Amino acid sequence: MATRLLAASPAALVIALLAAASLDAQSPRQAMQQDPACQALTPVAAGGAAPKDPDTAVIRWLGHTNYELVYRGNVFLLDTYYDRVPRSHPIGVAPADLKKATAIFVGHPHFDHISDAPTVAKQTGAQVIAAPSAGDFLAKAGLSAKQFRAVKGGEVLQFPGVTVEAVLGRHNVIATTLPAGFLEKQNAAVQEAALQQPYSPEEQKQADAVRARSSRDPNIATTGVINYLFTLGNNFRVMFADSPGPVTDGQRALMAKVPSVDVAMLPYFAFEAGIPPLVELVKAFKPSTVFLGHHDGAGTMQWASNYPPAYAIRAASPQTRTLDVLYRTPVCFNTATKDMVIGW
Ligand SMILES: [Zn+2]
Repeated sequence: MATRLLAASPAALVIALLAAASLDAQSPRQAMQQDPACQALTPVAAGGAAPKDPDTAVIRWLGHTNYELVYRGNVFLLDTYYDRVPRSHPIGVAPADLKKATAIFVGHPHFDHISDAPTVAKQTGAQVIAAPSAGDFLAKAGLSAKQFRAVKGGEVLQFPGVTVEAVLGRHNVIATTLPAGFLEKQNAAVQEAALQQPYSPEEQKQADAVRARSSRDPNIATTGVINYLFTLGNNFRVMFADSPGPVTDGQRALMAKVPSVDVAMLPYFAFEAGIPPLVELVKAFKPSTVFLGHHDGAGTMQWASNYPPAYAIRAASPQTRTLDVLYRTPVCFNTATKDMVIGW
């Protein structure tokens, strides 16, 4: 019956062929939805699937300001604070699970950004890229000098299909914008409201051990904070910043060259007080999509709502959307078409 119809009508044949062709041709969004790399919760560094399409980048939030960025065979870890202080929410991935990394980028060498870098670097052979002030801690933790690349801002690093530009940022100065003692009072009130008992002696010991995995350089605030701008393929840009300090000359100069970014990973904490510096970074980087981190740690009841900063970001920059994703959820981007798919 169908054959006779087609034979009888060339127009019907053309329509049937066009319909078949459109079924075969997947949109970039459909292709990402069907790629296991865009659906699995396991980070690629822990043995999860890598994306099939060379234009697909996968970003996972791994708690605090930790992210995994995977693109064209590169597995980049951004910050490494997985073994966290007691009572933190489990991320679902431990330092020992991370066996594969191309490079580890550390935004600044305070413990809640660098603590697990030596462990993961030794396991993976990856180089740690961080400000010079990270050097003492990494060496003390037994990492060989050739596995540390010090950057001060201005360096350009090349990986297959990826260019990374380091730029000097600034540590947050939120406390100086508030009445004296405000943050201490806020932290105490949050502890009380969360019905938290003080740490047990065992928990205190564990917390002290985690906090000790940190650089002690007094100049971290001014020379230790490095942002990284990743250009994936021709022009998909991802900015990683892990402390919401005042916008620096270096950041402004870089953004004069690159007027906007597609994705920015930015930190949010200290509730209302943390919103103004975050909004300033959004105005500087002009991202299409923002991932927020740092809001799941101490001082924020282990979960500050992303709603107030997301709303402030949208009000200041209507073209910017803020994601609120769970730990390990893959977020895929087609770096050519800029389509996005959030996995399970
Ligand atoms: Zn810090």
